[in-house]
Amino acid sequence: MKKLLFIFLLIIFPLPVFAAENEDIYAKRMELYQKAEAVSLIPWYYFAAIDQYERNIRQVRRDLPEAKGIISIYIPPERWAGPLNKNKEDTNPFTISQFGGMGTDGNDDGIADRNNDEDILFSIARFLRSYGNDHADLKIALWNYYERSKTVDIILGKVKIYKHFGRLNLEGHAFPIPIRFNYSYKNTWGDARGWGGRRIHEGTDIFANYGTPVRSTCYGIVELKGWNKYGGWRVGIRDINNTYHYFGHLNGFSKDLHEGQMVEPGMLIGSVGSSGYGPPGTSGKFPPHLHYGMYKDNGYTEWSFDPYPHLKHWERLERLKKK
Ligand SMILES: [Zn+2]
Repeated sequence: MKKLLFIFLLIIFPLPVFAAENEDIYAKRMELYQKAEAVSLIPWYYFAAIDQYERNIRQVRRDLPEAKGIISIYIPPERWAGPLNKNKEDTNPFTISQFGGMGTDGNDDGIADRNNDEDILFSIARFLRSYGNDHADLKIALWNYYERSKTVDIILGKVKIYKHFGRLNLEGHAFPIPIRFNYSYKNTWGDARGWGGRRIHEGTDIFANYGTPVRSTCYGIVELKGWNKYGGWRVGIRDINNTYHYFGHLNGFSKDLHEGQMVEPGMLIGSVGSSGYGPPGTSGKFPPHLHYGMYKDNGYTEWSFDPYPHLKHWERLERLKKK
């Protein structure tokens, strides 16, 4: 429903209006993160990373309410008010602290409101700060808060990305193959077994000649690089929206590509090959192609979704750019 409304709004409003509005939200969020940094001495990109992670989680989960403000961090009532506090909606900073709740008054109105952006951020800042404010301390704080190592890894990946690029707007994308090269692809996601070796085909196969450049589709961090029996030489990149981009059957990697590296849309990561289906180095068991997959994490599990519409969209944008 929300998607439909968005499409409808896109039709009646020209795009630049939306772009300007987004930039405005980014600026407002940055202001809040920097305020939290000023009081806690924890760099803004930690707040940005936690907030963005939770924003992504809310988008794919039905059990979490929609954010009221522009900050998406969701602090459950019992955590906010304190586990033994009978008043789960307590907004009194004094009683909350007596019951060991993490709710704080961040905007000095005397109320600790778990739907207020500043109160939320200051509460998180105070929680983190209680562990110390260097990177190792914050990692422990995040582990104690989320109790899931994958979540901590994803948030720390976002920390690195924001720190590296120094801004919040990292939404750009690129088609994985430069469009001037020969290539072809069809919508084969969900087909019974391609060359993926899994039960269903979790991606789109883009057929191209050996050595055709393969590029990053997004801003993100290289989470994985190496050999897999099925995927061959492959690269996994996680973007700022918690989407994992998977590139399989490569011929080789771009020079110096390594895990933990920052990438941006269009950056060379490797080339098309036919590697896979055997011990490291095995190739040629099928025609050369790029297997491109997209995955989403909801805080519990990760699942594959169809990359085909996205590929079509990015390809169209690049054609428009060329004109
Ligand atoms: Zn495939």
